[in-house]
Amino acid sequence: MEKIPYKIYLTENEMPRAWYNLRADMKNKPAPLLNPGTHQPMKAEELSPVFCEELIKQELDNDTPYFEIPQEVYDFYKMYRPSPLVRAYCLEQALDTPAHIYYKFEGNNTSGSHKLNSAIAQAYYAKKQGLKGVTTETGAGQWGTALSMACGYLGLDCKVYMVKVSYEQKPFRREVMRTYGADVTPSPSESTAIGRKILAEHPGTTGSLGCAISEAVEVATSTPGYRYVLGSVLNQVLLHQSIIGLETEAALKKYDIVPDVIIGCAGGGSNLGGLIAPFMRDKIQGKLDARIIAVEPASCPSLTRGKYAYDFCDTGMVCPLAKMYTLGSNFIPAPNHAGGLRYHGMSSVLSQLYDDGLMEAVSVVQTDVFAAAEKFARVEGILPAPESSHAIKVAMDEALKCRETGEAKNIVFGLTGTGYFDLVAYQRYNDGEMTDYIPTDEELAKSLATLPVID
Ligand SMILES: *Cc1c(COP(=O)(O)O)cnc(C)c1O
Repeated sequence: MEKIPYKIYLTENEMPRAWYNLRADMKNKPAPLLNPGTHQPMKAEELSPVFCEELIKQELDNDTPYFEIPQEVYDFYKMYRPSPLVRAYCLEQALDTPAHIYYKFEGNNTSGSHKLNSAIAQAYYAKKQGLKGVTTETGAGQWGTALSMACGYLGLDCKVYMVKVSYEQKPFRREVMRTYGADVTPSPSESTAIGRKILAEHPGTTGSLGCAISEAVEVATSTPGYRYVLGSVLNQVLLHQSIIGLETEAALKKYDIVPDVIIGCAGGGSNLGGLIAPFMRDKIQGKLDARIIAVEPASCPSLTRGKYAYDFCDTGMVCPLAKMYTLGSNFIPAPNHAGGLRYHGMSSVLSQLYDDGLMEAVSVVQTDVFAAAEKFARVEGILPAPESSHAIKVAMDEALKCRETGEAKNIVFGLTGTGYFDLVAYQRYNDGEMTDYIPTDEELAKSLATLPVID
């Protein structure tokens, strides 16, 4: 067998031509979105004031396994894809492990993360529908940046509501978005009714994703020619992100590598859902016996400590209800929580897979995550995003277990992005000022008490 190279690249022609919809192969389908008023499943026409037509079709389709990638999106992908699958030889050596570690690196574009994969698709369908622009929220800023790039490329307006704490901590992210033509507002803001309400109820709040979503939806539904787009959680986003998993599958196949453990960080679940899609299909069909692990922050532990229930997707309770592992829609992570991965709920697809026992979940504290990030940066060269470093931490833990058992397992993880805009967090870590905060059971019970009652 030929030695496996440091980077397994696919050629342009080997890049997948269609996204894969894992829902088509799930035995238990994810629960449908419900109308928050009637508690009946949302119909396409009820979603159309909020979302683009084509994206609604993708959202509601649990049966079609493949969706062709439109040529314009495919051409855009070619600017930064296929992304490499890297064999982490240096990390293996540093850990002195017999395990083989691979990571799929999605940080090689200006937005610095995998989010561009869905941003360009969503902007394309909005443009195709003849819309003037889109609104969205952004937390750590990667999604807003990705969407700004996609809208700048296609000539669409882009209004971004950015969680206030990030807006203040990451002024340079904001400037990247503005350079691509986006209009960026810190959330909660005085510019929407829901923002004013939240500010009146919680003066001095540093904001949350749930709250920024409410503002962005309000603006989209009250401005002609606008729709709202979301960078994670939704079925359509997982669909677009399947490009990550399909490329990983193709790269592994080139060298007959069968993964034993697949690991990804989980915020709303889009990168993990995308990375695991073809592997989970094989697992469901009994063709692959791999462990699949979601890693979440101990400060925002929706899978490991949340409840599987219908909940609001946003703080303002204007969006449809989704059945998911959730901490309650008014859960706000402690202000010392550094990176993204701060959403209160988890993708319905991943929630169902987790509930079915097809996926594991672990939570990790941020000081351990940054220690792993530092080690990784020093041996593998890439300065990782804090979100991605959750996966690094658990991949390293799994590799260390292999050192004890002597097993040469194939460990694959998603390296979702770079950390160049997370230097305030790195600074806190380097200065020894980073702390961990794990919410108490009482705190979680308080936000979970606000779950809607569905009969
Ligand atoms: C947004 C983001 C995540 C988490 O979002 P998911 O939807 O859970 O994938 C992870 N890593 C990076 C770099 C991100 O930007």
